[in-house]
Amino acid sequence: MKDTTESWAAMVAGGRLVKYAINLGELGPEQVQIRVESCGICHSDLSMIDNDWGMSAYPLIAGHEVVGVVEAAGEMVKGVKVGDRVGLGWFAGSCLSCQPCLSGKHQLCGSSEQTIVGRHGGFAERVWAHWSWAIPLPAALDVRKAGPLFCGGITVFAPIIDGGVKPTDRVGVIGIGGLGHLALQFLNKWGCHVTAFTSNAGKAEEAMKLGAHAVLDSRDTAAMKQATGSFDFILSTVNVPLDWSEYLNLLGPDGTLHFVGAVLEPVAVSAFALIGGRKKITGSPLGSPATVRKMLDFAARHGIAAQTEDFAMTDVNAALDHLRAGEARYRLVLHQE
Ligand SMILES: [Zn+2]
Ligand SMILES: [Zn+2]
Repeated sequence: MKDTTESWAAMVAGGRLVKYAINLGELGPEQVQIRVESCGICHSDLSMIDNDWGMSAYPLIAGHEVVGVVEAAGEMVKGVKVGDRVGLGWFAGSCLSCQPCLSGKHQLCGSSEQTIVGRHGGFAERVWAHWSWAIPLPAALDVRKAGPLFCGGITVFAPIIDGGVKPTDRVGVIGIGGLGHLALQFLNKWGCHVTAFTSNAGKAEEAMKLGAHAVLDSRDTAAMKQATGSFDFILSTVNVPLDWSEYLNLLGPDGTLHFVGAVLEPVAVSAFALIGGRKKITGSPLGSPATVRKMLDFAARHGIAAQTEDFAMTDVNAALDHLRAGEARYRLVLHQE
């Protein structure tokens, strides 16, 4: 086994990525070593490279939508073995002994290990993970397109399961990008009536192809007024502040406005906007390993996949520029070969 691995690292906040050799050290007894085949790029990778959240350490090796093959496994590894093709997302470990972990909510573990926080991620030849987060990839899924399911996909799929979204629900998706384009596909196959919120005419047409039954332009005040009270669940995937009261107004009684997009500005709404209709504002981070497995099975069954643009790992800076320019349609994936 090699004891160093090549990676692509940001040496300073916002810096271009440069080739960087990492000393791997000793694989933990419950860890697997994954030879990276491909790695999606998530907006959170940019946020971490740029230190937007104030928790980045440099050299910073991003990448948390990994697909690869297990090439080494510690002696206490369960569930996966050398030679298995697996995916790895935002989490690379959780304690397995706290209340959330014991309840099967590993993504809520207070001492979880996050793939690109204080350790190196998937913009590399190799990456490590606790076996529980190295999730076997169903053979029916396209290896080159599966990476984005492990962060973007589970981020929008878990609220369907954990939020109890029903096939009879009328659901809206705010933001048709990396997250939203997967949400439309999942919700359509779940059986919901799906509305895409977008003010971009080009994206409106694509949203219908992805599974939206209707498109609402939030700037069309007449259409927004007409939709008052008609939604059970609205999923926000954007990271910019919007007029959230307007969206609460679109919810019927017991409706939920759910955040998965990391908008940093406070969500300012009047308590009355919630009280009368017993409405809720909620949020969630990713999903448990069990929910990831469910998602992969569901995606394989229904032919759900990210729409991807492919780059060689060596062109990571060009890919990041493309994402920064807001031109990604819809998810970028780096490939080692
Ligand atoms: Zn991500
Ligand atoms: Zn835990």
